[in-house]
Amino acid sequence: MSGTLLFRGVRLEGGPVTDIIVADGTIAETGTALSRAGARQIDADGLIALPGLVDLHTHLREPGYEASETVLTGSRAAAAGGYTAVFAMPNTSPVADTAGVVEQELALGDAAGLVTVQPIGAVTVGQKGERLAELGAMAASRARVRVFSDDGFCVWDPLIMRRALEYVKSFDGVIAQHAQDPRLTEGAQMNEGRVSAELGLAGWPAVAEEAIIARDVLLAEHVGSRLHVCHLSTAGSVDLIRWAKRRGIAVTAEVTPHHLILTDELVRGYDARYKVNPPLRRDEDVRALREGLADGTIDIVATDHAPHPDEAKSCEWQSAANGMVGLESALRVVHAAMVETGLLDWPDVARVMSRTPARIGRLSGHGRPLAEGEPAEFTLYDDSASGVFGEADLRGRSRNSPYLGRSLPGRVRWTVHGGRVTVADGELAEALT
Ligand SMILES: [Zn+2]
Repeated sequence: MSGTLLFRGVRLEGGPVTDIIVADGTIAETGTALSRAGARQIDADGLIALPGLVDLHTHLREPGYEASETVLTGSRAAAAGGYTAVFAMPNTSPVADTAGVVEQELALGDAAGLVTVQPIGAVTVGQKGERLAELGAMAASRARVRVFSDDGFCVWDPLIMRRALEYVKSFDGVIAQHAQDPRLTEGAQMNEGRVSAELGLAGWPAVAEEAIIARDVLLAEHVGSRLHVCHLSTAGSVDLIRWAKRRGIAVTAEVTPHHLILTDELVRGYDARYKVNPPLRRDEDVRALREGLADGTIDIVATDHAPHPDEAKSCEWQSAANGMVGLESALRVVHAAMVETGLLDWPDVARVMSRTPARIGRLSGHGRPLAEGEPAEFTLYDDSASGVFGEADLRGRSRNSPYLGRSLPGRVRWTVHGGRVTVADGELAEALT
């Protein structure tokens, strides 16, 4: 669906009511009682207009693991969730550690055409943590990589981390760290604490995340480079980031929707949909993460969308894969955890789910104001809707969502990417044509 579109009666970030005219890929006009000859009129009365969401942490699984997800199916999940851009993590097969692979990823995203797919490059060759990948070549490639991560693995060697931080400075890049000390988490099955002791499962202690974050913010300060910390999960991590920011260190941090709403109590049922890395933590961690996001210590919400086929999840807890899908549910979970609780308002949601992730990743054309002359990248959200999250809400290839069967507020009604409708009245537009 393209051509000129006239959306009637949206609320800009939950505030002023306006019409939006989209033409030639841009927001051509905003205002009340607009009209334009030949435009298709869409009743969007009362829907909240947000800048298209930007996910700094998505696993698209292609190339190599297409049984879990492809760039196309992941793009569908993203559009359905209100996203117009996703950053694709490099733990594919082959690993995205060269200009060739990141350019292939970029081309797959362009071919799917539903969201901007911005590749993330690996920090080390094969994500093995032994020697630096071709960071400069990936930065200079057509994929223009600015975010580098070995996500799934921690860049554990402090000298390699230092060199990576030094290297990316020259092109304004950032290292996104999966903070997990590998020795302290060997064999870990869940959060280390009261529940793990009761269940007799090997624990993943908070200190394994916090020790790496403490080291890395000091390295970032020493080098004078940008550090981004992926999926904060503990109260102590929030304290460390707060300390580092006060000190003026160039660090940013993300939290996942699931760490804002789920706790390790859920592990008691041994349902592997709740198995994720870093693991679900305690109630007091959830509270600290919410407070950190509300007071700006944590900069963004990122999904860590991690699709897995049924056989990787419908097995016993110990052998199940880590990860949850999250693109389709993220905005609704943030609505429940942060907006309904009064911790964030809709302009804050626009900041933590669109503007700031675009800025951290140096992605132009996204996270922009919803104003005349700006790129038409936005989503329209019905905050008065609610419903049980079900299989029909999942638009990617995998079904490993922890929210199936749970009631969640809200619903994404429309998503517009590059001036084209990708979601029309709650349905993927490509399915309608
Ligand atoms: Zn990770």
